[in-house]
Amino acid sequence: MKAIISGAGIGGLTAALCLHNIGYDVEVYEVVSDLKPLGVGINLLPHGAAVLYNLGLGKKLDESGVRTQAIEYRTKFGHVITSDPRGVDAGFEFPQYSIHRGMLQFILLDAARVRLGPDAIKTGAGISSFSQNDMGVTAHLARGETNSRFSSVDGDILIGADGFHSVLRKTLHPNEGPTRYEGMMMWRGVNEHQIFGDARTMFIAGNHDVKLVCYPISAKDEAKGTAQINWVAEFREGKPRRAITADWNQRGNLDFVKHFQCFEMKDIDIIRLLKGTKEIFEYPMVDRNPLPWWSKGRVTLLGDAAHPMYPVGANGASQAILDGAALAEALVVGSPEQGLIAYEKERLGKTTDVVLANREWGPEKVLDLADEKIKGPNDRIEDHISRDEIEAVARNYRKVAGFQKKSESGTRL
Ligand SMILES: Cc1cc2nc3c(=O)[nH]c(=O)nc-3n(C[C@H](O)[C@H](O)[C@H](O)COP(=O)(O)OP(=O)(O)OC[C@H]3O[C@@H](n4cnc5c(N)ncnc54)[C@H](O)[C@@H]3O)c2cc1C
Repeated sequence: MKAIISGAGIGGLTAALCLHNIGYDVEVYEVVSDLKPLGVGINLLPHGAAVLYNLGLGKKLDESGVRTQAIEYRTKFGHVITSDPRGVDAGFEFPQYSIHRGMLQFILLDAARVRLGPDAIKTGAGISSFSQNDMGVTAHLARGETNSRFSSVDGDILIGADGFHSVLRKTLHPNEGPTRYEGMMMWRGVNEHQIFGDARTMFIAGNHDVKLVCYPISAKDEAKGTAQINWVAEFREGKPRRAITADWNQRGNLDFVKHFQCFEMKDIDIIRLLKGTKEIFEYPMVDRNPLPWWSKGRVTLLGDAAHPMYPVGANGASQAILDGAALAEALVVGSPEQGLIAYEKERLGKTTDVVLANREWGPEKVLDLADEKIKGPNDRIEDHISRDEIEAVARNYRKVAGFQKKSESGTRL
């Protein structure tokens, strides 16, 4: 059996490795000619990490990322509203990682090149359309820059892992409405900065309209007391721009920092962190409405192509990775068409729940709970919000996103 995968992102490469494990011949087609480790930091949740451990990549994760100890939800004055412990010590079977997106992609890419063969990843060749019949599927290849068709390739299944602007999604669902954008812009960057906390904890601070996420993505430099600190600053703009411009490589400038002047924390100089960052990227917080189906015959969707979601709760990469594992599992028995339907049945409902929960701000609802009540650095959380109220929000989200602790789920994640 041969699988053709469109897109050498995190989802496509994980799927390639998982399909190779069940005996498929795999070819991955990537529109970009010269893949570079782009992006800034992302988080890999314990269930996503479990898939990569099963692929034998746990050691690489430890060498390249930081095992996340906890997620703190903070007010803009630095009060810790709640701390959600992560990792093995907190009862998960696998660690959570904070890691540079490009490094994660290259861990997968290097493994794919070794295991699938050096020629299995074809760069500078996008998939622009396909045709299929009872015998197989043919993917038509086009050059990225000109979109001119130059060749075609045959296989048994075609997987659209071609990201947020997926061509294959558009082909399967030509009448889908526009992307959803509610006016929230994100600026992202990485800066070598003085470490905060235990050098392994991340925090999310502010409220629904002005929010800051910070976490280290490198080990602490013991001599300097610094690490590479990843940050994402989010601000709800009055005049939403067209979400169609969503491009992960779009450069931004420092104008947004004025919205964060009121963020004052004892353990980190927020303004210095933001202003000292050399490369700033901007990206609108966009998603799409969940689809009613992903699979048609021998073709299906995976990752952001299938279920683009707000980057809330660190789920984008993790859900794409889970898709890859579920796809391979579903294809072990039955025909390719049956396998793709079984994969969709396993994953569509679950990822739809995450897309919708992220629109309601997932676990970050606690920020708004506190923001309404805490008006200065001397206010005390415990005088205003009960522990039960706070824990219920985090527990519910873990359930929706599917990475409960062993004690909560009875499953071993
Ligand atoms: C350059 C880049 C930087 C990013 N940076 C961040 C970040 O800093 N923070 C964050 O949270 N998320 C980032 N993301 C998104 C994040 O990687 C995804 O949300 C998540 O990992 C799901 O992965 P995916 O494989 O579904 O999609 P992606 O990781 O987006 O991968 C899709 C791949 O498909 C390729 N492709 C697109 N069209 C075609 C085509 N027609 N034919 C063949 N290949 C095609 C793309 O070039 C890309 O390599 C970034 C994505 C990209 C592409």
